[in-house]
Amino acid sequence: MDKNQKAYLEEKFGNRANFNEMERVLYSHDIAAIPSLIAPLIGKTVPDAVVQPQNEEELVNLVNWARQNNIALTPRGKASSGYGGVLPVKQGIVVDFFRLNQILSIDKQAQTVTCQAGVVWEKVDAALAKEGLTVNLYPSSYPGSTVGGWLAQGGAGFGSYQYGWFRENVVSARVVLPDGSVRIFNGADLDLIADAEGTTGFIIDLTMKVQPKEKLEIIAIGCPEAEALQQIVEDIVKADLPLWSLVFINPRMAEMKNRSPLMEHNGHPVEERVLLPASYVATIAFHKKDATPVMAKLQEILRRCQGEILSERIAEHEWKNRFKIMVVKRLGPSLVPAEVVIPLSRLGRFMAEVENKINQPVVKEGTVIRKGKDGKPEVVILGFIPADQRKFSYNFVFSLSLSIMKIAERNGGRAYSTGLYFKSKAEKVLGADRVARLKAFKNKIDEKGIFNPGKVIGYSLMDSAMIIGNAFEPLIRPFGNYVITHIGERKNYPVSDIPADVVWYAYSCSQCGYCVEECDQFYGRGWESQSPRGKWYWLREYLEGRAKWNQAQVDTFLVCTTCELCNLRCSAALPIEPSWMKLRGKLINKEKRMTFPPFEMMAEALRSEGNIWAGYRKNRADWFPQDLKAKHGPGHKAPAMYFAGCTASYVEHDIAIAAVRLLDKAGVDFTYAGEPENCCGTPMLVAGKWDLFADIMRKNIEVVKQTGANTVIASCPACDMMWRNVYPEWARKLDIDYNIKTRHYSEIIAEKIKSGEFVFPANNMQPVKVTWHDSCHIGRGSGVYEPPRDLIKAIPNVQFVEMEHNREEGRCCGSVLTLIKDPSIAADIGKTRLDEAVEVGAQKVLALCPCCQVQLRVAAKKKNIPVEIVDLAHLAGNALGYDFPDPNPDVHSQWGVFDAFISLMTPQGFAKLMSSMWPQLIDAMPFGMGPMMRAMGKIPGALNLMKPMFPVLFPKLLPMMLPKVMPVMLERVAALIPMPDYMREQMPELMPKVMDNLMPHMIGDVVPLVTQPMIDYLTGKNR
Ligand SMILES: Cc1cc2nc3c(=O)[nH]c(=O)nc-3n(C[C@H](O)[C@H](O)[C@H](O)COP(=O)(O)OP(=O)(O)OC[C@H]3O[C@@H](n4cnc5c(N)ncnc54)[C@H](O)[C@@H]3O)c2cc1C
Ligand code: SF4
Ligand code: SF4
Repeated sequence: MDKNQKAYLEEKFGNRANFNEMERVLYSHDIAAIPSLIAPLIGKTVPDAVVQPQNEEELVNLVNWARQNNIALTPRGKASSGYGGVLPVKQGIVVDFFRLNQILSIDKQAQTVTCQAGVVWEKVDAALAKEGLTVNLYPSSYPGSTVGGWLAQGGAGFGSYQYGWFRENVVSARVVLPDGSVRIFNGADLDLIADAEGTTGFIIDLTMKVQPKEKLEIIAIGCPEAEALQQIVEDIVKADLPLWSLVFINPRMAEMKNRSPLMEHNGHPVEERVLLPASYVATIAFHKKDATPVMAKLQEILRRCQGEILSERIAEHEWKNRFKIMVVKRLGPSLVPAEVVIPLSRLGRFMAEVENKINQPVVKEGTVIRKGKDGKPEVVILGFIPADQRKFSYNFVFSLSLSIMKIAERNGGRAYSTGLYFKSKAEKVLGADRVARLKAFKNKIDEKGIFNPGKVIGYSLMDSAMIIGNAFEPLIRPFGNYVITHIGERKNYPVSDIPADVVWYAYSCSQCGYCVEECDQFYGRGWESQSPRGKWYWLREYLEGRAKWNQAQVDTFLVCTTCELCNLRCSAALPIEPSWMKLRGKLINKEKRMTFPPFEMMAEALRSEGNIWAGYRKNRADWFPQDLKAKHGPGHKAPAMYFAGCTASYVEHDIAIAAVRLLDKAGVDFTYAGEPENCCGTPMLVAGKWDLFADIMRKNIEVVKQTGANTVIASCPACDMMWRNVYPEWARKLDIDYNIKTRHYSEIIAEKIKSGEFVFPANNMQPVKVTWHDSCHIGRGSGVYEPPRDLIKAIPNVQFVEMEHNREEGRCCGSVLTLIKDPSIAADIGKTRLDEAVEVGAQKVLALCPCCQVQLRVAAKKKNIPVEIVDLAHLAGNALGYDFPDPNPDVHSQWGVFDAFISLMTPQGFAKLMSSMWPQLIDAMPFGMGPMMRAMGKIPGALNLMKPMFPVLFPKLLPMMLPKVMPVMLERVAALIPMPDYMREQMPELMPKVMDNLMPHMIGDVVPLVTQPMIDYLTGKNR
């Protein structure tokens, strides 16, 4: 792609076109790990650009322009397929459908939904549920794949027993054709689009049939042999049982599941181990209303066929975890896939033959389709062989997928799909007639062959390899069978300084994409590099020597908000957020790379005054109510100590005041440490400044010991999480005696409400409709979901509504890291959260995290969102008759200062600052260089000749110059940033330390920005 072509895309798509090298690598693959011997046959797959159209007009214009410029276009949904369809084998442009993700209409009468192609199943189904409907069927990649992707790829899934293949459930599809026209396909014409993987047109939206949402009954059945399973399913079909879905796993899969790691939180398993029997386990779903006839018949069938109904626990567990099939990948850490469709009548034989011929543990999942392509029942078998893609032997194990394919074909079966690898099998997969129609259509509308070249039909080197591989399969098979397969996690050694467990996880990640859509860093920016999936892939690139750390990549890991949503969504139960946390320590604390610059200012303020807002320690306790001092203030002995944290102490005083009022009214005996209290350390933990974190933690533990309390009561969720989860773990690590319990005030008050010890009196507050924002650290972090709700519900005149994403699924507000790194992205993320509140008609969003409240208030103001952010204790305190200071003025003014510091502490900010003080900087140059530079400025062209020396000179000179220019620098900073007095007073002490820490990292980016302005100054151009 040439410069002009890039410029065109930049002009048309702005920041929705991406040319960044690493980003393009992240859009160059799908879920398959290609063996090293096959990769060269595919060739280069890194696109020249990734583009995200957001409407039909943009897509049509892109298609017309690409055709005129002969540029290949490869459509991409969520890249959760594994047939190479999304690989841009002719480079060109990857067209990412991420922004075409709206549900356009739901027709309850006709029972159809129309949605854009890029919407994921989970989102469509959630919208349908509000109307009492649900989708007819879905793939098991439901949390992370798109509806357009499934129509283009073709497939069957949950619900296929009743509803068949997805294509049969599609009413129509609106498609942009390669000639730039837009056409609606329906009826038999859908054959030209379905399973065609975007080779004939880009699906922009589609209408599909849906069904009324009814309660499901889930039954698990076990049987020892595949033959018996076949018999059971055949009998079920014969008996015409009204099932919706029938899926099963083989005994090896059951065994692997039993061995798979459980989901963890804070390093401990947080789910129950449900052991599966070493047999075939089928999970059956049907409508509850059909339960009586189904169960009667089923029992009879099972009696005949050596089957048994397994426990409810197993059924429940299998259904709950139906999307999490990739957990077995943790034992590989790779899986060689083999996916085939076979007639139900050959299921037993196929399974037996695979067992006989493949001397590897083939784990299998099956999906039964009652009426298959020829009207008879068929079964989709997805087989996996555990392997290690880092080893050469992976090539041999991979070849066994051809053996499985051959066995399927011998049993009247076929490949599941075509894509890049099975074009030679297109006639078997799609039927000869359909292939002929597709070819004719493609030739007519895409003469230049720019739509997803190399897929579905046609011929490439890959096809020759497949044909040869097929022919020599009996000779290759022994090599695959000979490989010794190890099963189990082997987190043995770190690689390239990446901790051993993180290395293992990087390869265990299946790239399924469940974590992508809901990661706030992804939806805030829209690019793979920001998602957990992208980060794992980057780590693999790094581990294999194809990527290097740079500041942008360090920032990508640092900016994760630690919301922990990804941990819950991960199909492989990977501890994602804890892995990024480990990397923070490695990158910043150990390797001394640059953290986000504002953290340097916070760190210095914290070192000198114990808080991150640069307030004085002597003012820390100013908020504490006078009338409560004797009863709860410093010096009072009590079993519990209230810990206010920095933001409530210095910015949002209402939170702390209201929390202690509430505790007092509820009759809780507590004390408050006052001035000795320090920041809880969360900012330093996430900044990677772990030595400082440990230091603060020690001090805080000592403060509690001094008060004599054994329990900390927190109001701030981050403080709560530190005291509850992080301090105990670190104390263990550092051998510190830690015997402190943690309670959130909402837990204590909720208990008192429940026991009747505390009742809110009637009040005369205006009735108000509120919703609740589950802050990540109190929710997913500490598991406190219900107590705040119980408290809200107990307040008279308050009507409570839930937002769409709540409790475990609650969305992050976008603070603190995004707010510090990218305030504008933070506002977008905040808006996503607040829009949910507006949608449910809430007048107030209640929260209890000071940082969430700052972030949501700033976002609401920036985005003009008509909703008020109110602290929970503040509202509860109002209901008790107390008034509190309005936090909004302080929040906006203190945030204004912070925001200005964030802008200052960038290369651009520093360059601007330096440009305002050239006379002083030149005078401050050591070794008499100042006068020399001034003299050279008078010789035409002399300074330009020196330009290449500046990147070497500046880093050496600047440390010597900074102390001399500090007074004027402080003046300039004070003029740029209208700081409160206490902050300005501390600047002479804070600023030099901040500059000392930052400049060595930043100078490389600052020099190119200041070189020309300095030359201009010296030559008199800009004086
Ligand atoms: C954990 C897991 C479980 C899975 N379970 C199932 C299952 O039960 N059943 C099943 O069939 N598959 C399953 N898959 C495979 C995969 O998820 C499906 O094929 C899915 O439909 C792909 O959707 P996608 O959005 O990821 O599409 P992508 O993978 O992005 O694309 C698939 C193909 O469609 C093309 N394409 C994408 N969007 C468009 C568009 N708008 N217009 C034209 N062409 C387009 C792409 O170029 C590509 O060729 C599973 C995968 C995983 C990781
Ligand atoms: S913790 Fe939250 S922000 Fe961080 S990667 Fe996971 S989902 Fe994204
Ligand atoms: S991190 Fe988990 S959810 Fe995300 S792509 Fe990897 S396996 Fe899937």
